[in-house]
Amino acid sequence: MSDPKIQLKNFSQSELEDWVKSRGHKAFRGRQLFQWIWQKGIMEFSEMTNLSKELIQKLEQECSLELSSVSQIQTSESQGTSKFLIRLNDGKFVETVLIPEMNRVTVCLSSQIGCALDCDFCATGKMGLKRNLTSGEIADQLLHVRRFSPRPISNIVYMGMGEPFQNYDQVIRSANILHSDLGFSHGARKITISTSGLVPKIMQFAEEGHRYKLAVSLNASEDNSRSQIMPVNKKWDLDKLIKACQHYTRTSSNMLTFEYVLLEGVNDSVEDARRLMKLAGRVFCKLNVIPYNEVTAGYARPSKNRISTFLEALNRAKFPVTVRWSQGDDIDAACGQLSTAAQQEE
Ligand code: SAH
Ligand code: SF4
Repeated sequence: MSDPKIQLKNFSQSELEDWVKSRGHKAFRGRQLFQWIWQKGIMEFSEMTNLSKELIQKLEQECSLELSSVSQIQTSESQGTSKFLIRLNDGKFVETVLIPEMNRVTVCLSSQIGCALDCDFCATGKMGLKRNLTSGEIADQLLHVRRFSPRPISNIVYMGMGEPFQNYDQVIRSANILHSDLGFSHGARKITISTSGLVPKIMQFAEEGHRYKLAVSLNASEDNSRSQIMPVNKKWDLDKLIKACQHYTRTSSNMLTFEYVLLEGVNDSVEDARRLMKLAGRVFCKLNVIPYNEVTAGYARPSKNRISTFLEALNRAKFPVTVRWSQGDDIDAACGQLSTAAQQEE
């Protein structure tokens, strides 16, 4: 059954101000409320000490801050990565990952339960789409992880379950909460949104002038193999995708990150590397190569030798190339390993 109370965590700061005004209080009370919820992480209205008794009473009667709870935390012994299983009010589950490294602490947020885009190599894709998350449910993930993390969180990536640009509005609203001074005050350049290549949404993101970083999952250097592993390519092929990326980097003057999951025998030849160098070279970018984490039958991570040969072939690229050895594969928390199919309560 759905909660009849108003879920305040789904409100933006200005919507909170409007709500408070509609109940006869001054707008700045809405800003204070926003600050209690996100910056201070307070769950009880009665602990919001600078609000009047009368407002607290109205909040208690009409509103709720309970959107999700942590149901399980698994920590990788060897790598320190933690995976959070989070239960939502409707009994559905979502996963969030905390990745502590030497000089940064990254949180990987989910934007949907499952994903409709059905990339052949991805565990989340195999779940299908259950539903979109609300902005509050997305930001709540960070609240849970922040409470648990012994070190401050430095980077946030929308690379967990789901395709952020298929849930565009809620994702942008949640990023605004992460970025807001009275929210989590994370720098816009420390927040990265990753898309599999929804061209109209990349264009919209560029037009709207958001300062959050953009990552695009390229994963192939020619249309045939990309369409095979990523059905989204049949709708927006590589030429359309690259043009949208160029439009984004020109309008924003921001560098874009291409992600390239390395799959043995599919996209890991020297020829692939050469084609990739040309293709990505058309965009102001850096390239992040991700050796595949094995999750679905039919795909494998190339050998160390083959990975090195691929990287060597990229030696003369005009753009920076990095390799991401995913953390947390022993607890299925690495890229593309998130799936809560087994936990969903129907
Ligand atoms: N839907 C978005 C963001 C979530 S996936 C997107 O596709 O960009 C985040 C990244 O993980 C993508 O670059 C995706 O290609 C990659 N990925 C998916 N499954 C993977 C796996 N099993 N091993 C390594 N990377 C994977
Ligand atoms: Fe969805 Fe991204 Fe997985 Fe593709 S790789 S199925 S877009 S989560």
